Amino acid sequence: MTNAQQFTNKTVLISGASIAGPALAFWLDRYGFTVTIVEQAPSLREGGYKVDIRGAAMEVIERMGLLDELRKASTDMAGGAWVDANGKPLATLGPDLIGLRSPGDDEVLRGDLARILFDATKSGVEYVFGDSITDLVQHADGVEVHFRNAAPRMFDLVIGADGMHSTVRRQVFGPEERFARHTGMAACVISVPNYLDLDRWELVHPTPGRIVQMYSTTRAAAKAQFIFPAPAQLPDRGDVPAQQRLVADTFADGGWETANLLRLMPESPDFYFDSVSQIHLDTWSAGRVALVGDAAYCPSPLSGQGTSMALVGAYVLAGELFAAAGDQRAFDRYQEKMQHYIDENLALGWKNATQMVAGGKGALRMQTFMLRMVSRLPWKGMALRSIIEPIEQAAKAIHLEDY
Ligand SMILES: Cc1cc2nc3c(=O)[nH]c(=O)nc-3n(C[C@H](O)[C@H](O)[C@H](O)COP(=O)(O)OP(=O)(O)OC[C@H]3O[C@@H](n4cnc5c(N)ncnc54)[C@H](O)[C@@H]3O)c2cc1C
Repeated sequence: MTNAQQFTNKTVLISGASIAGPALAFWLDRYGFTVTIVEQAPSLREGGYKVDIRGAAMEVIERMGLLDELRKASTDMAGGAWVDANGKPLATLGPDLIGLRSPGDDEVLRGDLARILFDATKSGVEYVFGDSITDLVQHADGVEVHFRNAAPRMFDLVIGADGMHSTVRRQVFGPEERFARHTGMAACVISVPNYLDLDRWELVHPTPGRIVQMYSTTRAAAKAQFIFPAPAQLPDRGDVPAQQRLVADTFADGGWETANLLRLMPESPDFYFDSVSQIHLDTWSAGRVALVGDAAYCPSPLSGQGTSMALVGAYVLAGELFAAAGDQRAFDRYQEKMQHYIDENLALGWKNATQMVAGGKGALRMQTFMLRMVSRLPWKGMALRSIIEPIEQAAKAIHLEDY
């Protein structure tokens, strides 16, 4: 490893302690950089839906030495069913069809992965919770960073890993409207008691244009997700009561368990709500500042790709910075190395997100029929392969260097 004294830039501030931030910190710390993470939440945010880790991202987890921890946290889903308004199964799916994963890939709760990454970095990285960047001033020899609470500090480099609505991106690259592409849908996730006694089992109740899901994993009591058409004006991001009212109004006439889940929504300790949107930027860096994960290339919360892209992006960005001894020209190499992989996954993410919810009654009937057929066909393996192959290709569309 390069002697730390030879680094052109050594101190790095990362904004955001979810997936991309701590994964980047892991590698930078290992390479000898001095890393600080600022997170606006008062403590580690543990909530969120189950997320897939696929292809190159699994390779990154393995190189981090975290594979055993990840396997222990696996949701280990046994399968699930699509149900009608009375709870009658329309199609029953095994774990292969419910997860659409290639052998070796895995699925964990987002919060569990955030905890694994935090635990693996907390001894070598300075975490500052309950604060955020208010201003960034780039100088020839560093970045002057102003915080909401803490006193201003100088860092050599600043990385925005602060998600789809990144503040660093807004401060350095411009307003979100310039980079966001909306699918027209919104999603909400809540934690609920497992009152249906689901055992690693997922139930999906689709209606035209909307979906309600509930599942339990080995690690979570139960989670529910609502997917629905976003109104032209979504409630403000911090306005949880307005977001909950919107979900409740949208699903007021819902069948199956919808009324029970809506009743439980206000008690959820980790309410998550967002528009189903992508982020597209031509360039992920400007001077001494760069972006990683959803802040740079969010594929949308329904894509099944975001967490993998964050892990791979963190690995490549840290590796290129190390290879360049901290010189920010590494940011160009990071983008060059990642561009193809990101393009493939953004395209796939858009398709996944926009095809997940069937628009009308006819489309819904067709979707259910296809699911039922694929799960029953004698050549099910072949049909499944043709669905999984494009996902696998995108997940592996990068060669990971050994930095
Ligand atoms: C609590 C939570 C629940 C989620 N649940 C789901 C889910 O159910 N389904 C799904 O598909 N995706 C979910 N996501 C998004 C998913 O984690 C990401 O798409 C993906 O893992 C990429 O991670 P990321 O680290 O780039 O961004 P994110 O996971 O979005 O993390 C961004 C982090 O930055 C922090 N942050 C934001 N603004 C600032 C600021 N100004 N200053 C400091 N810190 C800031 C956030 O609090 C967060 O910890 C969730 C994210 C969070 C934070």
